[in-house]
Amino acid sequence: MSLPAGSTIGIIGGGQLGRMLAISAARLGYRTVVLEPQPDCPAAQVANRQITAAYDDPAALAELAAASSVITYEFENVPVAAASALADKASVYPPARALEVAQDRVTEKTFLNGIGIATADFRPVDNDDDLTAALKAFGGSGILKTRRMGYDGKGQRVFRNMEAGGFAGTCEAMGNVPLILESFVPFEREISMIAARGIDGAVASYDPAENVHRNGILHTSTLPAGIRPETAAAARAAAARILSALDYVGVIGVEFFVLADGSLLANEIAPRVHNSGHWTEAACIVSQFEQHVRAVAGLPLGDPRRHSDCVMENLIGDDVLRVAELLAEPDLMLHLYGKAEARPGRKMGHFTRISRRR
Ligand code: AMP
Repeated sequence: MSLPAGSTIGIIGGGQLGRMLAISAARLGYRTVVLEPQPDCPAAQVANRQITAAYDDPAALAELAAASSVITYEFENVPVAAASALADKASVYPPARALEVAQDRVTEKTFLNGIGIATADFRPVDNDDDLTAALKAFGGSGILKTRRMGYDGKGQRVFRNMEAGGFAGTCEAMGNVPLILESFVPFEREISMIAARGIDGAVASYDPAENVHRNGILHTSTLPAGIRPETAAAARAAAARILSALDYVGVIGVEFFVLADGSLLANEIAPRVHNSGHWTEAACIVSQFEQHVRAVAGLPLGDPRRHSDCVMENLIGDDVLRVAELLAEPDLMLHLYGKAEARPGRKMGHFTRISRRR
């Protein structure tokens, strides 16, 4: 049954993704309440209410459950225990299992390989000896990442063509947390799929975007991606398989590496709306944010087709000084996140330039 207009959607996390979800929810007639410890967060500025508390505060979670008809989240590091406890009191979408899979890079890759989706080779690394053995197995090259809580390239170290051995102290320098070594993927490009699954099991997927990162942070997403139709079809099929394997409800982002022969290796799953899907608000009738709200509210999914070609670009830190110049451009949609301070590396907003579909 779908959520009647006027109902309240709870959102865990108060960043820009929560903000854009709240805006889309309001457009469909819903109210929103945001759980976020930081006062006056980007999402709370446009939501009906903020519960200002930690994401795992039991009293705050109970308050969120009491206030909401359905609960969702805008970031993948929501404590699984909190999501599971909430699920006893309210509908929580996407399911806690999706959080569990996405929060640990080893669990994530094991899950993907288990449903027939290829990834980079990987080895769990808990100490310097594990690292030495894993690097040896990968011919001296690889990317060492934290298993948990990594994002935007943070907590990563690259090894290229190094003789195995002599890595004493590396794990300590990475904070003595569980790590993963991934083989180095000689990718030709990076793409991502933004797809959604409804409560009824219907799936809608947007066209794959081609993504360019700078300093580990997404810089641009370009549509159409410069890939073969077979590669796009494979990406779509992989996203659909992930959605059904997780009995998922909501929008998911799946990042892939494209190899020279057009084959794909999945890199990461984000169980939420995703930065590489921001272009959908300018180039599709139904954005990823509205799609997510539709999915969790039990409404029919919207049409994911793209009416325009486009390039989305993030405004990081001082890039936000370009606003006046950007606003002067035709065919450009600007979105700012209401963050007061433009710190280096901080996502302040994004814009999408659209052009006639080729
Ligand atoms: P991640 O935090 O896993 O999204 O990684 C951030 C970026 O680092 C990716 O978007 C890639 O550009 C690069 N990267 C990550 N893993 C690998 C890999 N196994 N091989 C080559 N490049 C990678």
